[in-house]
Amino acid sequence: MVGAHHRQHHRYTDRPGDPHSPLVDGFWYSHALWIFDPDNAETDMGRVQDLARFPELRLLERFEYVVPAAFALAAFALGAVLGHVAPGLHTSGLQMVAWGFVVPTIVLYHSTFAVNSLAHRFGRRRFETPDASRNNWLIAALVLGEGWHNNHHRFPNSARQGIGRFELDPTWWGIRALAACGLASGLRCPPAWAMEHKPASVPPLGDRLERAN
Ligand SMILES: [Zn+2]
Ligand SMILES: [Zn+2]
Repeated sequence: MVGAHHRQHHRYTDRPGDPHSPLVDGFWYSHALWIFDPDNAETDMGRVQDLARFPELRLLERFEYVVPAAFALAAFALGAVLGHVAPGLHTSGLQMVAWGFVVPTIVLYHSTFAVNSLAHRFGRRRFETPDASRNNWLIAALVLGEGWHNNHHRFPNSARQGIGRFELDPTWWGIRALAACGLASGLRCPPAWAMEHKPASVPPLGDRLERAN
């Protein structure tokens, strides 16, 4: 379960024990190589007991390839049908799989990975946190708000990650839309003082450690 590694990241952020810290294990390991590490193959269910209560989440965990495989098959079917009934579109099953599934999946993965690697290296720090997390507007744009990562490490329970008017957070808008439809409740936000907090570049723990050495 992805949540178990995520919680481990919050518990040991940028210290030994963090499954993906660019400060501890370097850029490429923190970006993508950590998912291939056998040490990270198992889900520590003890960390996610509250999530493991939901049978639908356990089902997704057990058959993790079913949803992407079904999506790829649907893309293939759509391309094959369109290639047949609308030959003017010059598409095919394989073309639709390549552009509708393979390329977007690669972009999605690297954008998400960039939160772990680049957003602990490059960007501004609004809050003094005991880690190297940063707010990075480019990553926030790519992952629809999760790039406000220094805010997230300061307020990990908050459903909202963008603070102030200019930190756009479409994920938060989506969660609010779900709440308006009655599909989400009990949303948490950063406290009022934090929403007023002026952006500042607070040195991250990593830089302080590097300077001390
Ligand atoms: Zn997190
Ligand atoms: Zn982080």
